[in-house]
Amino acid sequence: MSMLELRGVCASYGNIQVLHDLAITVNQGEIITLIGANGAGKSTTLMSISGIVPPRRGEIIFKNRPIHNLAPEKIVALGLCQVPEGRHIFPELTVRENLDMGAFLRRDRQGVEDDLDYIHTLFPILRDRSNQPGGNLSGGEQQMLAISRALMARPELLLLDEPSMGLAPLVTRQIFEIIRRINTDHNTTIFLVEQNANLALKVAHRGYVLENGRITLHDETAALRNNDDVRRAYLGI
Ligand code: ATP
Repeated sequence: MSMLELRGVCASYGNIQVLHDLAITVNQGEIITLIGANGAGKSTTLMSISGIVPPRRGEIIFKNRPIHNLAPEKIVALGLCQVPEGRHIFPELTVRENLDMGAFLRRDRQGVEDDLDYIHTLFPILRDRSNQPGGNLSGGEQQMLAISRALMARPELLLLDEPSMGLAPLVTRQIFEIIRRINTDHNTTIFLVEQNANLALKVAHRGYVLENGRITLHDETAALRNNDDVRRAYLGI
């Protein structure tokens, strides 16, 4: 079943159009990735979906409901959460307070406690650092916190923008293992934007290639990894 559909989505900053007629389908329970060069429009695609940069044309359908005219907070309330590039945690608030912010729309206290326990099993370090200001965490820990804060909203669809940005290879691998686990543990659907195409095409089931704001290719990731153009342009092979 398709959970999210982009139909003919166009987006602009002022007079400059950066997304042209995007058609993307994300099925329930899958990890899809959008890969592309710097400036191709990957972050803009995510921001269009989450309502931060509303599309100029086209439709975005989430769980059979048009969301392209909704405000970002309404979209979050429907179960679609974005972890932005650069993490954007609240540095002055403690780790626990950052996590509470993610759950601010929820009234099911027991569910929130259960999700907190789950997050602590994914990232035990966040339990250890519960009372520390978010700004004291390392880059990798802040990424863990940013992902966890989004999970506290119990999203059905999680948008991840460049989770590997600025992280050491070992930490990046850890984060990617957790992304896979979030997908399998709760059947959370994941839309992953990533500069590191090698990793993204390993963790995702299907992938889309974005070039200058246009989708030029999409397929199962196994096929994309064997595609000569993809190998040359994005895998450095
Ligand atoms: P990166 O990996 O560098 O973040 P990206 O694929 O995510 O790249 P976008 O950030 O979506 O690409 O940018 C797409 C285009 O839109 C680029 O040409 C960029 O310069 C431009 N752009 C992005 N944000 C803005 C903005 N706020 N105002 C004007 N132009 C912007």
